[in-house]
Parts: sequence; structure tokens; C-alpha cells
Amino acid sequence: MCGIVGYIGHQDAYPILIKGLRRLEYRGYDSAGVALVSTANELNVYKSRGKVDDLERQTQNKDISGRAGIAHTRWATHGEPNDANAHPHYSQSKQLALIHNGIIENYLILKQQLIQSGYEFRSSTDTEVLVHWIEYIKETNRVDLQHAVQIALREVVGAFAIAVIEKNNPDTIIAARRSSPLVGGVGEGEYFLASDVSPIVEYTDRVVYVNDDEVVVISRQNGLKVFNLNDIAQTPEIKKIEMSLSQLEKGGFPHFMLKEIYEQPQTLENCMHGRINVDANHVVLAGVLDNQKKFLEARRIIIVACGTSWHAALIGEHLIEDLCRIPVEVEYASEFRYRNPVINKDDIVIAISQSGETADTLAAVELAKSQGVFIYGICNVVGSSIPRATDSGSYIHVGPEIGVSSTKAITGQVTLG
Ligand code: GLU
Repeated sequence: MCGIVGYIGHQDAYPILIKGLRRLEYRGYDSAGVALVSTANELNVYKSRGKVDDLERQTQNKDISGRAGIAHTRWATHGEPNDANAHPHYSQSKQLALIHNGIIENYLILKQQLIQSGYEFRSSTDTEVLVHWIEYIKETNRVDLQHAVQIALREVVGAFAIAVIEKNNPDTIIAARRSSPLVGGVGEGEYFLASDVSPIVEYTDRVVYVNDDEVVVISRQNGLKVFNLNDIAQTPEIKKIEMSLSQLEKGGFPHFMLKEIYEQPQTLENCMHGRINVDANHVVLAGVLDNQKKFLEARRIIIVACGTSWHAALIGEHLIEDLCRIPVEVEYASEFRYRNPVINKDDIVIAISQSGETADTLAAVELAKSQGVFIYGICNVVGSSIPRATDSGSYIHVGPEIGVSSTKAITGQVTLG
């Protein structure tokens, strides 16, 4: 799952989209692409296997005009990394272009149905099925793009963050999400979409975290609107981002990992700030204090996490068992979610994730939730999916971690533990 960027407003979209893709590069990817509705009202798609630099080479001497566009970095799940499989994907008529992060699990069933209706496929991705499917719904139901997306997504099984742009409607971009991250940005007469806030902070500090099964419509005339899949308008909660641009730049270091290693004295202080009362010999974690009874009565703690967060959990197991004498089990979230784990009502589940978007950890949280158990999150990215899905939790407050190898996040997680 990689990156999505979208822009509509009064500026040229292309430079904003490319810069946005570069801000998302830390997530890793194999291809990149962009779709723009040009000043001549053409829907231009440029895409390439490789890096954003390869995409930039491809767009040299091409029409990159337009004040509305979407851009994507792909991490292939269906079909090899090549130009044809890179996003955006055109619909059959080339009236629509779509980008997608995630996996469409029922794509084969939908594909068969579309092939029978005469649709031809230019790629081997699950994503192309989605754009044809939306067009098919749009044409057969004679509805506009927003309604077509809403109806189409009701039939889709899987995880997605998508953005769709339409040749004949350059004033609107439609986006939606389920289990893949998506954030909207509200500027002055300009609106943004992205997988996380890093492509947006430069332009505005007002963002909307999109919830599962919500459709976001950004348009120059009507701003940012949110609907559910049944077309009921939702009130978007606009949040202020507490992040500065300097946190997303290397600040003189040769790479982010080194910068983040050196940031640790400060990030650990931020993590502990206001949480340790030395005089009273007391730790003040509101998320724990508000649920003190649950913690005191817990018979067992299950920690679910992946990767580095799982290693932080192992240290947490030692600390909690030693200090609290409560048995702790550390589970790999990707295993936990696919088996039938025993979860008792007097257990506590703790989910640890730096991004708050780790798909397996989020699925483990949903599984635990379905068993009615109390869930506590330990995350870094404010407003991300796991903190929103858990009953309570604490942020580690170490600022954006761009380096892929975790440094300040694991020390923050262990500090909090
Ligand atoms: N499943 C899609 C593909 O393979 C999207 C992958 C992604 O999240 O980048 O093209």
C-alpha cells in the first residue's frame, strides 16, 4: 500500500502532485503516475515503472497543464511492476482515470462480469477492474460519478483508498476509503487528498481524516464534502495538523534515519512531557487513568503488533509482567487476525503501530472489538485509523518518522510501555 495525492484548486496541479509523491516516497513503491484534466479539457495519464524521476522524464515535453489531478505511487500486489500496471488506470471510454491503494478481493468475479459486458483490460491489476466497474455502474444506472462510486463500492470486497477524476467534470475529484488511509486537506479555494498529511502540510494545516466507507468529494465550487455509501451527507471533522514542514525535511543530515536517531533526546522528552510527576512519584497517562479499573482487573494483556512495534511489544511484556504481575502475550497481528484466538472479557488488548495504519494490526483490533474486549492503542500518527478504532490509548509524540528502519518510534513505544 503506497501513496495517493490529489489536488483541485487555482494552482497548476502537476508540481503539487509530484512534490506530494516525493513526500510519500518513504513508504516505498515500484511505479508512479499522474492524471490531469488539462486546460484543453483532455484527461492525460502519464505513468511509469520506477521512481518519480522516471515519471518526470516521461512527462518532459508533454501537456502537464491543469488545475485538477491525481497521482499515485504503486506497490504491486496484482500484476508485475510495469508501465501498463502502473496507476492511474483509464476506464474503457477513457472518460475516467482512477488511482488505488489496497487490494480488491473480489476482483475476479467483477472482471468476469465486465468481460461478458464487453469490457477490455489493458493491465493485470485488480485496480483496473474498479475503474471499469465504476464506469459500468455509471452508464447502466445513468447516474453521476459520485453516485456511481457509491453504488459500485457497495459491491466491492477488500481494502481501498481511491481517487477518480473525470474528463468532462474537471471541477470535481471523488475519493473513498476502506481499510487504507486517506486524508483530505482544506486550503483557501484549494483542496487536497493524500495517504497521510505529509503532502498537505505545506499548503494548509486543516485536514479531514476520512473514515471507512466514506466518499469524499472535493470541488472548487463546493469545497470538501463527505458522504457515506448510501449518499447520506456526513459532517467532516476538520482537524488542525500539529506538524511543521521542517519535520519532513532532512535538515542537513544525509538521510532521514540519521536525523531521526539524533532527534531521540528531544522525542523522548516530548513522549514523557507532562506524563511524569516526579514529586508525587506518579505516571500520568490519561488513557490509562480513565480506565484504571479495567487495567487493575485485567487477567491478561494481549499485545498485537507487527515488525518493529512487535519488538517493542516484547520489551513491554518484560516490563509489564515484572512491574504489574499481569500475564502478557505478544502476538504477531498478521497471525492473530487469521486464527481464532481465545479472547476473554477480562483481557485487555494493546495494539502498537507507529503509523496507526498497519493493516494487519488494524484487522486484529477489529477482531478483538468483535469479541467486546477493551482495546488500548499505542501509536504515533495522530488521527490515524488505529487510535480511532481503539477504546483508549496514548500517542508517543515523536513526530513523523520517515526513515523505514524505526528509531525514535521504537524508543518512544518502549518509553510509553
Ligand atoms: N492492488 C493494486 C495494484 O497491484 C494497488 C497496489 C497499491 O496499493 O499500490 O496495482
